[in-house]
Amino acid sequence: MLYVFAHPDDAEYFCGGCIISNSQNEKNETIVCCATREEDEKTALIRKKETINAFLDYNVKLDWLEFCDGQFFYDRMHFQKIKSYIDSISPDIIITHNQYDYHNDHRILARMVFDASSYRYPVLQTDTINGNDFTPELFVDITNNMEKKLSMLSCHSSQLASVNYIDMVKILNLSRGLQYTGKTNCYCEAFGYFSRYHANEIEKRIRKLFCLGD
Ligand SMILES: [Zn+2]
Repeated sequence: MLYVFAHPDDAEYFCGGCIISNSQNEKNETIVCCATREEDEKTALIRKKETINAFLDYNVKLDWLEFCDGQFFYDRMHFQKIKSYIDSISPDIIITHNQYDYHNDHRILARMVFDASSYRYPVLQTDTINGNDFTPELFVDITNNMEKKLSMLSCHSSQLASVNYIDMVKILNLSRGLQYTGKTNCYCEAFGYFSRYHANEIEKRIRKLFCLGD
């Protein structure tokens, strides 16, 4: 299972609950963080360390692609890097950003992952940052891992000074839980199908990978 996200903290925010759950079920998980270069090297180093700390207790592999934060372009260089990286992993399934998310880097990366995967790898897109412009097709109940997810996110203290991602993700996952179950004490992460891969095989793999049963 491969998670392709733009910035440090994105994987935790958008699907941290699923990553924790899959890690506990000993799924083979790789998270690639694409934008590990910043305007200044000190910030880049801090953000990398925060990501390493966030996943310290979990059995996941972390990779980095050294794109520049805020400077993603859909060009040959970026596309080839993404495509070669995905081919080197040859994942059963890929999870990436939502194609309509708020951040330019997120949207461009989602589009490149979609095109690089083509019909060869199944892809899921995550929720948007606040649930706008997205009707989910798959909900995963993360209630049991919500506290752990929040403590992963809290490792990113350099980001939390300016935006309260903790409260934002609580509200987002709670509203998806309400939408899915009608209950007010359930937290869910939401996903949508996002590839040219044949749907029956995608469903089969998702059920297996998320341990959803038949
Ligand atoms: Zn981001």
